Amino acid sequence: MKITEIFKKSLLINFLIVVFCSTSTSMAQDAPSPQGKKEGVEKKYENEIRFLSKHRKVQKAFQTIEELEPRTLRELIMLTEIPAPPFKEELRAAKYAKMLKEAGADSIWIDEVGNVIALRKGSSGNKTVALDAHLDTVFPEGTDVTVKKRGDTLVAPGIGDDTRGLMVVLTVLRALEINNIETMADVLFIGSVGEEGLGDLRGVKHLFREEGPGIDSWIAVDGGDIAGIVNGALGSNRYRVTYKGPGGHSWGAFGLVNPHHALGKAIRNFTIDADSLSRSTEKVSFNIGRIGGGTSVNAIPFESWMEVDMRSAVPEQLEKMDRIFQKSVQKALKEENQAKRDGPDLQVDVEMVGDRPSGKIPVDNSLVQKAMASAAFFGATPSLITGSTNSNIPISIGIPAVTIGRGGKGDGAHSLHEWWINDEGHLSIQRALVLLLSETGIRN
Ligand SMILES: [Zn+2]
Repeated sequence: MKITEIFKKSLLINFLIVVFCSTSTSMAQDAPSPQGKKEGVEKKYENEIRFLSKHRKVQKAFQTIEELEPRTLRELIMLTEIPAPPFKEELRAAKYAKMLKEAGADSIWIDEVGNVIALRKGSSGNKTVALDAHLDTVFPEGTDVTVKKRGDTLVAPGIGDDTRGLMVVLTVLRALEINNIETMADVLFIGSVGEEGLGDLRGVKHLFREEGPGIDSWIAVDGGDIAGIVNGALGSNRYRVTYKGPGGHSWGAFGLVNPHHALGKAIRNFTIDADSLSRSTEKVSFNIGRIGGGTSVNAIPFESWMEVDMRSAVPEQLEKMDRIFQKSVQKALKEENQAKRDGPDLQVDVEMVGDRPSGKIPVDNSLVQKAMASAAFFGATPSLITGSTNSNIPISIGIPAVTIGRGGKGDGAHSLHEWWINDEGHLSIQRALVLLLSETGIRN
């Protein structure tokens, strides 16, 4: 995801920001829009984080994180240079599993869809907290992922999004192990697959399936600086619609169903009603991103297709938009078939190519409060964000979840010239550690 520059802005203007993240090359878009206000941190959580940070072992773990910096940076480069294209994360997953194992988790496995999971047992075992970053990048196979150094700046596709996140997760595990910190809750350290684009959150969806590992609390590392905290899930539904007919000569076969004519009718039906819904109180967007089909100016096309994206942070709004869309497509089919003078009926195929649910974890939820308190503890002004990240899935089913920043400075996510600088990057790892511990509890 690409929220670095937005996080920078959020620091400056203390706005709540809606950020759109995700997507493949054909569907990439990140459109911030300021809305709302800064929320407050309750004193009790401020105190809790401060108290936890003074714990002798936590202090030592903070120091370990600083001492590990050269190694963390070295391994960030190594991991970035292992390609992880959409649906092809295996190579990077295998290496990451090995690294987690060497760091000392109790058991490590790669699940059916390719997620790397490392379990570190807690003493109570009655709660499971996950710390996650995503393995996949948006870049196709064959992309040059060599890390180029320009002074302190590291330039490579995927270096920040989300390879740096993977290093944050791993280094937190190392700091716990080296300092023998025993948590109360079990912790799952996760490198997930399929966060980006048409991956459609398949890794995290698998983790939250019914027979999944039973995660009670979810912290994803995927984003910019320490200030930004995603507690709202921007949902999206995406479709590819294809109208199909026999096709034929524009003069000789005149009177056959025409897929393009139907598509035009569908677009008109949809955009009129979608427009009026989108002007109602809660923001909901709609977009026809691509259309295509046809062979010649004097041929009735045999197919006509479009790709449609609709988004909202409010589930009911997204559902309403979806219903308008489905109705419009079917209405156009009927209209075109009624206009037909000859030949077989027009067919339509509606394929869902993206399904990211929406929702929100309230600001007074303890995990959200701890995420804000820990950001403030490290000198940032916490800012709540709605985004499209792995947290969408737990948020949509009401499981406490936040997405926090990977730290350092960077920009250009989803581009070949993505860059990242280790500007006090250790702070974000220390923050992730203290946030995790506030959620798991410490035994010793
Ligand atoms: Zn990401």
